[in-house]
Amino acid sequence: AAGKKSAARKPEYLTFEDIGGQDQPKRELTEALDFLVHRDKIQKLGIRPLKGILLTGPPGTGKTLLAKAAAQYTHSAFIAASGSEFVEMYVGVGAGRIRDLFKEARQQAVKLKRNSAIIFIDEIDGIGGKRDGGQHREYDQTLNQLLTEMDGVQGDESVRVLLIAATNRKELLDSALLRPGRFDRQIQVDLPDKNGREHILKLHARNKPIAKDVSLGQIAEETFGFSGAQLESVMNEAAIYAMREESESVSAAHLTQAIDKVMMGERMDRETTR
Ligand code: ATP
Repeated sequence: AAGKKSAARKPEYLTFEDIGGQDQPKRELTEALDFLVHRDKIQKLGIRPLKGILLTGPPGTGKTLLAKAAAQYTHSAFIAASGSEFVEMYVGVGAGRIRDLFKEARQQAVKLKRNSAIIFIDEIDGIGGKRDGGQHREYDQTLNQLLTEMDGVQGDESVRVLLIAATNRKELLDSALLRPGRFDRQIQVDLPDKNGREHILKLHARNKPIAKDVSLGQIAEETFGFSGAQLESVMNEAAIYAMREESESVSAAHLTQAIDKVMMGERMDRETTR
């Protein structure tokens, strides 16, 4: 989508409390973000400003949510893009888009009277994949522009820009991106454990009438290996089953059916991509 306007979005009101489980990533992230919040202290100690945070881990575990909550936590403007948009771009377009993204982030911050901006790039491997000779030249230009912009993020600017990137496939990233001073923090975001799953289910049950026979702890037991996105889907599908039966609340039986459906959907996805 050459020349497409980038999605400058209003920072959505989403906080760390709206994210289930993921205690460790939340802690590591807020620790890193405190560098952005307490920029004067950091400057006095001569610590170089935080430029990038890389979130790694399987799909649907809340990496995008963490980036949004980070913007809320630091009162930053928020702007998002996906690395996959860059893959098919013509020479020069990708690099230009990166330049615009950083420019827009700064403008957005000024407009909202914030002194920092967070740029979130999902699927960063689409831009910063390994450069192995045979790669298209454009690919290099886009990555080089990203590195330039990250290097240009100086401590003395009025708007501090922080890049948060996410990938499911860290092993594909170019080593240039992983050098110190680029992504200063790398945070692993894994599938939720049982407590995490229960927490996520609870969050997605907030806006639904749940029957008394439902134990979310039990559902959490039965959903081993599910991501946050799949758990969200379970709650939603269960509510759809309840609606079909004209039931006033979501019952344990609806949830069991929903778990099966989500599991089945996963299996079908795997088979069709094989
Ligand atoms: P991808 O790598 O596929 O982009 P992601 O890790 O960025 O995935 P999100 O986009 O943050 O995943 O999550 C997708 C949806 O799944 C969220 O909008 C939310 O509804 C649900 N979800 C995922 N993780 C959590 C969580 N920890 N707590 C609550 N909801 C979650």
